[in-house]
Amino acid sequence: MSDRLCTQSSAMDISVATLLKSGKPFDCSTDKYAVEGPRVWVKFPFLADTLPGGTVEVQGDNNGLTSMQVHAELDDGTLLSSSFSAQEVTKYWRSKGSYGLPVPGSDKPELRKRIRTVYLAIDRPKVVSSISLIQLASKQKWDDLTLPLSIMFATLCGMAIMPLIYNAFFYGAMRYNFMLWHSVMIAATVCYTFSSSGLIFLVFPETSLITKMLLNYWTLAIGVSAGGFFLLRFVEPGKIAPWLKVIITVTALLPVIVTASVMRIDGGYSMDARNYYHASFLPVFFVVLYAMGHALRRGSRAIWYQIAGWTPIILFSLDRVARGMDLYIGWPILDYGLYFMLVLETIILALGVANRIFRLRQRHEHTLRQQAELTLLADTDGLTMLHNRRSFEREFDRNQREGRYSHLAIIDIDFFKRVNDRYGHEIGDTVLRVVGSTLNATPHFAARIGGEEFTLLIQTDSRDKRKNYPANALADICQALIQAVDDEVPEIREPVTFSVGVATIGRRASLRSVMATADRRLYDAKNNGRNQIVWIDLSSNKSAKPAGTASR
Ligand code: GH3
Ligand code: MG
Ligand code: MG
Repeated sequence: MSDRLCTQSSAMDISVATLLKSGKPFDCSTDKYAVEGPRVWVKFPFLADTLPGGTVEVQGDNNGLTSMQVHAELDDGTLLSSSFSAQEVTKYWRSKGSYGLPVPGSDKPELRKRIRTVYLAIDRPKVVSSISLIQLASKQKWDDLTLPLSIMFATLCGMAIMPLIYNAFFYGAMRYNFMLWHSVMIAATVCYTFSSSGLIFLVFPETSLITKMLLNYWTLAIGVSAGGFFLLRFVEPGKIAPWLKVIITVTALLPVIVTASVMRIDGGYSMDARNYYHASFLPVFFVVLYAMGHALRRGSRAIWYQIAGWTPIILFSLDRVARGMDLYIGWPILDYGLYFMLVLETIILALGVANRIFRLRQRHEHTLRQQAELTLLADTDGLTMLHNRRSFEREFDRNQREGRYSHLAIIDIDFFKRVNDRYGHEIGDTVLRVVGSTLNATPHFAARIGGEEFTLLIQTDSRDKRKNYPANALADICQALIQAVDDEVPEIREPVTFSVGVATIGRRASLRSVMATADRRLYDAKNNGRNQIVWIDLSSNKSAKPAGTASR
């Protein structure tokens, strides 16, 4: 509508006839529309030739709960009138967020030709945009658009709900808080889209304007607050400074606090309340904008998703807030953009959530690997890579439950000090390593429990059915050890031999007692000339076997 609207205010009991009779002029000059009221009259010429055919309707933004009248004045001064209560207005709701009230008589061609002026009465308009956005449009066009627009909004709602399902699913498995906040954001977005698009009137025709208005205000406030908390939880630890976290928390809570204090359920809300409401979003917008740059500088990767998801919304919202505060008139078409951006954001952030979960899982797996490595290190002897004493003791305890081993042998290198003295510590170390790898190749559990002292836990179910098991098995092992050292440490000229003490592992025996027995027998082996295996107490029966001859 290019022609300027003319307005004037009157008392509530003034009818259109009285108003016109009074001859009080309409104000067509000022730039700012008056909303003093309580009843505001709007007059605009009905330019029949430039208007679309069919029924013409008056469209406008009803920012609240006002009753309205539409009057058509014919060429002979006859008035055709219709009036609508606030609730009736909802029946004429258009998806773009405005009402569309038919101009009486415009549906009949012979009357339509004679309409000269249209008057609109708005009772207690809240904001200038209630008047500034008024225009005439084709009823048919918007009737035809109802279905596609409803489908569009329903699809948007559906698309936004998808990440909600996915969030619920993942939250069941991984309880990260940011998923909850993301879910609150999505729920608020869906409710907001559902309500403010007018879809709510289609699905629930009995919804009052008040419910819709409260839903709009609350869902937007909750959504924005949840967004602030999502930011705090979603960005990697340490990427937002503690002071900024406090500021984000406070500013994120502000819209909810302000909404709770200025939105009265009884339906009334003053211009001031509306302005406070809209203004309460400004701090969190700017703080979030700042926080995005802040986290980016600190190397956050998660923040990229927020930047991608939120920048368009913040821009569109600032536009909406500015229009809401009547800072400028703007195009209502921008509202559609905001819906798309809201849904796009839930999807981008859902991708962000997926990515974050993926990275948290990677970190978790890395930690597990590290833990496994540390455990291995803690249980391993660094020189020989055999189990250490700690690991050996644990294995022994486990054996007392599982009965995997029948015997414990302590293997001690003979005259090892001499090896060190003659050939140096390095060669001594090499000997220990060769012993380690040779013992490791046996099917038994081998550990290094002291400098040149090793233990073997000997498997119960060995296939070695020879007599004197495990002595002959051990004799083979000693042979292998002697051979290995001889082969792999050629620097040592004389053979390096081993003394072994063996003890049976009783079902309920303690490690101490089994070790004491094996140690005593090792001592016997040493005293008896070394290079031999002792598996019974020599004090009662001298039954030591030279290691080299045991496997005869
Ligand atoms: P025996 O036949 O009575 O067992 O004589 P031995 O010399 O083997 O026994 P002793 O206990 O007198 O000496 C053990 C030596 O083992 C002393 C020490 O220098 C050496 N040793 C202990 N740990 C290591 C090690 O990690 N590397 C090297 N190269 N030598 C070690
Ligand atoms: Mg020794
Ligand atoms: Mg020793």
